[in-house]
Amino acid sequence: MTRRPLLHRHWPALADTLPYLPLGSGPTPVRPLTGPGSRTPVWVKDESGYGEGGWGGNKVRKLEWLLPQALRGGGPRTLLSVGGLGTNWGLAAALYAREQGIDVALALIDQPVDAHVRAQLARLRASGATLHFPHTKGRLILSLPWLLARHTRGLRLPYVLPAGGSSPLGTLGYVECALELAEQVEEGLLPEPAWIVTAVGSGGTAAGLALGLRLAGLRTRVLAVVVNDTLRLDAARLTALAGKAERLLRARGAELPPTPVRLGPEDIVTEYGWLGEGYAHPTEPGARALRWAAEEADLELEPVYTAKALAALLALAGEGAEGAEGAEELGGAEGTEGCFGGGPVVFLNTFGPRPDGS
Ligand SMILES: *Cc1c(COP(=O)(O)O)cnc(C)c1O
Repeated sequence: MTRRPLLHRHWPALADTLPYLPLGSGPTPVRPLTGPGSRTPVWVKDESGYGEGGWGGNKVRKLEWLLPQALRGGGPRTLLSVGGLGTNWGLAAALYAREQGIDVALALIDQPVDAHVRAQLARLRASGATLHFPHTKGRLILSLPWLLARHTRGLRLPYVLPAGGSSPLGTLGYVECALELAEQVEEGLLPEPAWIVTAVGSGGTAAGLALGLRLAGLRTRVLAVVVNDTLRLDAARLTALAGKAERLLRARGAELPPTPVRLGPEDIVTEYGWLGEGYAHPTEPGARALRWAAEEADLELEPVYTAKALAALLALAGEGAEGAEGAEELGGAEGTEGCFGGGPVVFLNTFGPRPDGS
């Protein structure tokens, strides 16, 4: 593949300073979601098909910027990262890094185990990644010196990445996605969204989108549905991460407008009402949204991230009784325009399973 990313096309200086490794094919499709039964038009930008390897979804766009960095300097090096037992990030990292000859080690923290998590763990074991099980965040932190030593190769320390790949560099994956969405708006494939709704697990997706939307000149706001209570992910954290990604672009020579973007409360709104008991604990509204998505919208969601984000969207869009059953009690009111001011609203589908998972 020789596709040039939009970041390189918009700011040609980056082509020499920010190496890119295409791992999927864009643009990912946008389509209207029919039948949610509210007056707010709802669209989906479907990232599920993004990724040519054995797993897709939102982590792949982050790896397109992270893996070239891991490869810098030559010689074998291990990528070390963390996640829950069902980590989509860890699986994507393991599968795509392996293709580049990079070993992956993952330290996994306990999360509620269901069939979905068990299947994911089996895929993680089959991926060839070295798995460690510190169980709790506290024990993970205590074991870090040992993990660093264990995965040092020669004199090369492992390339350590935060949960979800949400470093400033990884965040660029969703700056790229926002630029892609802006092109789709320009081509008339969808109207300029008032809002884009995404789940927040480690923050890179929401932060990157918010920055990219502003850089592209769109007014679209990000509704960040926080589904993880094991990390601090408030709006201040998300805008700070976007700021770091912007400074990275400037430091690498991107010819951005002289005034920093400075995202504020107008750009990213966090929503905590859909977390339920905590990270990876399923919720009733999430289960209903998941069923609705499969039956009415031809979308395969999962309970940890996307089902909760869609549940928030459906309820806040003033869903009414005809759509997801029970949405009314969740805050939606029949016949209103809901909380999105009439929309249009885009749901970002970040889940990318592969049928055989291999
Ligand atoms: C990781 C993940 C998210 C959250 O993205 P972040 O950038 O970590 O906030 C959303 N949906 C799915 C399916 C994920 O695996």
